[in-house]
Amino acid sequence: MRTLVISDIHANVIALDTVLEHAGEVDQIWCLGDVVGYGPNPNECIERLKEFPNLVCLLGNHDAAAVHKVDVTTFNPEARISIEWMQTQLTEESIEFINQLPEQKMIGEVTLAHGSPRQPTYEYLLDTRAASENFEHFNTSFCFVGHTHLPVLFSLEPEDFMSRLSIPLPNQVSTLQPRAIINPGSVGQPRDRDPRAAYAIFDTEENTWDYRRIEYDIPAVQERMLAAGLPERHISRLEAGW
Ligand code: ZN
Repeated sequence: MRTLVISDIHANVIALDTVLEHAGEVDQIWCLGDVVGYGPNPNECIERLKEFPNLVCLLGNHDAAAVHKVDVTTFNPEARISIEWMQTQLTEESIEFINQLPEQKMIGEVTLAHGSPRQPTYEYLLDTRAASENFEHFNTSFCFVGHTHLPVLFSLEPEDFMSRLSIPLPNQVSTLQPRAIINPGSVGQPRDRDPRAAYAIFDTEENTWDYRRIEYDIPAVQERMLAAGLPERHISRLEAGW
């Protein structure tokens, strides 16, 4: 099955639409959470995703904050401003959608989580130490995570104690070898100094990982954020990708 793997859309519907069009025909969509937060179009992003019958979408920490499942004071002051703005924007339908999102999911040989298999919604997998520990918290060949907004692959050979980190090259297809934890990067707010939207196409039979970056209309998103009165730093970071 040709599977679109996306994460951290962050209410950026212009980036999401660009990715959906660029990805072409897919059999299913796996979204690893944080559909909302930071960006100007939370409801529109949810509406887009709901159009796909074969959608699996997880709960991210911003999604949890949006529906008061987590205390907003755990976020930094600027993130808090955007969360509080978003809480005033969400429709009943959006709140209903977020409320039914699971924290974790296992599909065939893949475990899905927003942050990590150990702490599905909140843990950041930034280094090989944290990744290595997390290999003990899932049993499938692969685990797909988001949350850091950094595309990365952690692999663990059977005889190894420590996992290895590699950064996939954009617009290249690789075959995933068990076992691995993979992050497709962020659709709506990349943080690896590459402002282009990130996503991957995973083939569930071949285990191929087609990792892609695509330009989208960043000034149009910034204009909407400015009009909504969202924090300046969140507006400017989009064009630099941090
Ligand atoms: Zn995020």
